[in-house]
Amino acid sequence: MGQLNTFPLSYKVQGQRIVIVGGGEEALNKVRLVTKTTAQVVIISRSVEPLFSGFPVEVHARAFAAADLDGAALVFVAEEGADAELAKVSARARGIPLNVVDVPSECDFYTPSIVERAPLTVAISTEGDAPVLARLVRARIEAMLAPNLGKIAGLAGRLRHLAESLIQDGPSRRRFYERLVTSPEIERAESRGEGLVAATKLLQQHAAGERRGVVWLIGAGPGSEDLLTLRAQRLLQEADVIVHDQLVPSVVVDMGRRDAERIDVGKAKGHHSFSQAQINTLIVRLAREGKRVARLKSGDPMVFGRAGEEISALRKAGLQYQIVPGISAALAAAADTATPVTLRKVSSGFIMATAHGADDGELNHWAQLAQSGLTLALYMGKSIASEVAGRLVAHGLSPLTPVGIVVNAGRSTMTTYSGNLSSLIEGHATLADGPAIIFVGEAVEAGDWADAAQLAGMSFKVA
Ligand code: SAH
Repeated sequence: MGQLNTFPLSYKVQGQRIVIVGGGEEALNKVRLVTKTTAQVVIISRSVEPLFSGFPVEVHARAFAAADLDGAALVFVAEEGADAELAKVSARARGIPLNVVDVPSECDFYTPSIVERAPLTVAISTEGDAPVLARLVRARIEAMLAPNLGKIAGLAGRLRHLAESLIQDGPSRRRFYERLVTSPEIERAESRGEGLVAATKLLQQHAAGERRGVVWLIGAGPGSEDLLTLRAQRLLQEADVIVHDQLVPSVVVDMGRRDAERIDVGKAKGHHSFSQAQINTLIVRLAREGKRVARLKSGDPMVFGRAGEEISALRKAGLQYQIVPGISAALAAAADTATPVTLRKVSSGFIMATAHGADDGELNHWAQLAQSGLTLALYMGKSIASEVAGRLVAHGLSPLTPVGIVVNAGRSTMTTYSGNLSSLIEGHATLADGPAIIFVGEAVEAGDWADAAQLAGMSFKVA
């Protein structure tokens, strides 16, 4: 283990002055940072550039004098020259912590990268060695923390006395605070300016022993961890239980809290999968037990995700739920192949449709698709691709209509195939393992399909 040469601490500056000697860009950088505090920020320089107008700072365009440090908590020197030297000497003489911009050897302290959700602050320091790394880490933490988390932390502060009087048990009180800072209901209420009312209600419920469960129907995207939304990622960190489908790869399921229970409803202990009715019952039961349930579905939950049934079960049970959108497979496939599914003068819309119905003889379905004139993105069609193509031609689409197939869209294993309806009809191409989107329509030709295998020349066999 390495050892630190600096010690991170939160230093009180309220009611004090922070003096910045310098009037250029570097001073401005420090101004951005220190004006996050309630300290009185003073800028002193003989050459002040007109950069500071939007900031709550006091600007003195003149020489520095030692007396400027009266009542100063921190001093930044952000220029060179006689004033800078005098400021350094004066700060040291008075024992006021000094930061000389870009001169680590002269600094008493460094300024960390900050993620600020006042009063919550996360400071990231590399002791000045690797500011680029600090910025990267900062970006990640920014993504993890809800934008109004600070306000919610503020609510926790305002409710502290009430919480202490209503909930005597320490661990129970801690659970209340956990709930408070992770509840989407509170987050929504806070953004409407009704956070305190909602938080007080939550406190009363918690004190009365009501543990309110919630189910988040979360879109996991097409199967890469970086195609998850920030909101999905946050909620996965907060869930007590993650109920996921088989189509959601383990890299995504693994992004949940380490100690969260995980239930794979696509593959119950390697045997039969759960029926939809069993899944509905399961999530209702878990939420009734007061658990926060992440119901993780591939792509977007509202697109061929049976979300309708789950939502209606939750509604009927009077349970709280929230839907978090995800990147649906068709959109990932469009991105992978640079295919504009809507295209001026070529396709004025696109349809996400199931390829099923080929067996059921749902004539209307196929007639509508064939006659729409829009780009089709067909889901669940891999094993029946040639029947699907046959139906579309039978209902009037030209056999020469372009077709593009993307297997494992949005994943590193993505594979593509191109051809037209007639090459699909000729037989099943041997497609790579994994789920597939079938695009049909003139807009397909505008995509990058140069690396795609040709559907026509392939041997025919369902993978
Ligand atoms: N809710 C999901 C769809 C679930 S239905 C979504 O919005 O994407 C399952 C079908 O989705 C599969 O049969 C396949 O057609 C498609 N699919 C899911 N993930 C896919 C992926 N990574 N690549 C291509 N198709 C995918």
